[in-house]
Amino acid sequence: MRYSQTFIPTLKETPAEAEVISHRLMLRAGFIRKLTAGVYSYLPFGLAAIRKVEQIVREEMNRAGALELLMPMVQPADLWRETGRYEKYGPELLRFTDRHDRESCLGPTHEEVITDLVRGEVRSYRQLPLNLYQIQSKFRDEIRPRFGLMRGREFIMKDAYSFDVDDEQAGISYQKMYAAYQRIFARCGLQFRAVEADSGSIGGSYSHEFMVLAKTGEDTLAVCQHCDYAANVEKAAIKATADASVEPLLALVKIETPGKRKVEAVCEFLGIKSDKLIKTLIYMVTGGAEGVGTAGENSQQGYALAVLVRGDREVQEVKLKNLLGAAVVELAEDKAVFDLTGVPTGYLGPVGALGLKMKVVADFEIATMRNCVVGAGEKNFHLQNVNLGRDFEVDILADLRQIAEDDPCPHCGGVLGQIEGIEVGHIFKLGTVYSSPMRAVFQDQDGHERPMIMGCYGIGISRIVAAAIEQNHDDNGIVFPVAIAPAQVIILNLGLKDGAITAVAESLYAQLQTQGLTVLLDDRDERPGSKFKDADLLGIPFRVTVGTRLGKDGMIEIRHRRDGLTVDLAPDQAVKYLHDQISAALNQIEG
Ligand code: ATP
Ligand code: MG
Repeated sequence: MRYSQTFIPTLKETPAEAEVISHRLMLRAGFIRKLTAGVYSYLPFGLAAIRKVEQIVREEMNRAGALELLMPMVQPADLWRETGRYEKYGPELLRFTDRHDRESCLGPTHEEVITDLVRGEVRSYRQLPLNLYQIQSKFRDEIRPRFGLMRGREFIMKDAYSFDVDDEQAGISYQKMYAAYQRIFARCGLQFRAVEADSGSIGGSYSHEFMVLAKTGEDTLAVCQHCDYAANVEKAAIKATADASVEPLLALVKIETPGKRKVEAVCEFLGIKSDKLIKTLIYMVTGGAEGVGTAGENSQQGYALAVLVRGDREVQEVKLKNLLGAAVVELAEDKAVFDLTGVPTGYLGPVGALGLKMKVVADFEIATMRNCVVGAGEKNFHLQNVNLGRDFEVDILADLRQIAEDDPCPHCGGVLGQIEGIEVGHIFKLGTVYSSPMRAVFQDQDGHERPMIMGCYGIGISRIVAAAIEQNHDDNGIVFPVAIAPAQVIILNLGLKDGAITAVAESLYAQLQTQGLTVLLDDRDERPGSKFKDADLLGIPFRVTVGTRLGKDGMIEIRHRRDGLTVDLAPDQAVKYLHDQISAALNQIEG
């Protein structure tokens, strides 16, 4: 690539709309441009990085025996109705009708399409196992698209689906994908960790997420400091084992707490710790299973629900969503709370009329608390010495709160830490959640008809590039891992009008390409300063400067982008040096 003939529209200013570093740098480096919320064009250099990632993913998927295909993005609603997901998936599924009034959707994922394909073709155990994958744009109408490629509405995903004859074979397919994912993220040059995860709207029995460790992670991981337990906090289970307090029950008291609505304010006013208080939160729930909402209300239209957690805890909304089988759970706005209960936010509590208005679900921990403080269900009042069983009842007790750093490790009881991560891959053991309702069956060796056992495996290709930048950058720009850099070497020609300099730059450019390296030759008529700046910004791992030194001592300079190490070499040594450095960086992981 000659810089003068490429399209890399770098920016000097930091774009105001970008909140996180990867988004800022991808805009500044001319990798992406926004079309509309969560929808981006990938410009040539951004696309080059994406293609590098895709290539690694393809090689490792193929190595693991998976076969590439490409499925349609437009999917018929009727297929989604077979699994009940047309209703359940919620507003992330973009639905529309065509000119014949046929309902359709844009694929956010392809379980239904692949299951339909396979049920039509596979009849016998002899045709299994099968693992099929594609690399394709997905569309999810995310509620909060943000951070550029990190959470887009349209984004590129690799999705794979395995079909097996039984659980044991499905376990082997899962393990193969687990191993392939380890290789993929290692080859991409990323620091990552596999963690236990929630199965979310995909369903199925168990799953792992692959997390790139970076501070701007959208996910928080609970990691044990003693054993190898690591889980997304969305999933990290908390056992209901805490012993109930043995305090004797005291008499219920109603106290005036004027203007004290927040947990801290109430605790300070009453001189209690927040672990004595029960928070009552109202959630709006839509979609999914019936039966938890107020009788007679249609869950498609949504219903309100009260959730109780200890004052110093947070509701883990993914746990709540799973408990209810809901598509969306959202904290109700103050106005909605007042309209529903007649009580302003901050003074709600489970004692009295609330239970008549809506179901009440509580975190397990509530059952262990004695003589608590709750809102009195009346403006400016709280109740003290409230006790479950004596003063109020709940409809469901469940694990609903987010694991905290002072919780013991669910596996070994050891000390937990929390780290931030970005989810770049997710693998699921699905079992028969799709094959049973869709009747994807085969004949086993004894001629019996059985449902295929499935797994599904996603990788966020475009998100990987963003995650890589979150993990690898400095004040001057991106610091790409060699394996996914859009170019491995940039040659700066600092003497366009100097025949000798230009001849060396051109010859290096040709020779490095002959060696199979990807090279950008900066042949623009720009000041050296701006060439150096752009080379840093773009994050190309090796910079070769051909300038006036050539005429003095015959040397050119090679600089490593990551650590700033520079070496001076004669031009004829440079090709071997770069070739060796780059092969070493790639082979280290490739094995
Ligand atoms: P998240 O919890 O981040 O929304 P998810 O669990 O919905 O992710 P999956 O359905 O497992 O994601 O999709 C597979 C992979 O696709 C994810 O691991 C992630 O890397 C990527 N991905 C998912 N949603 C997005 C998005 N909105 N933008 C970019 N990549 C995404
Ligand atoms: Mg999602």
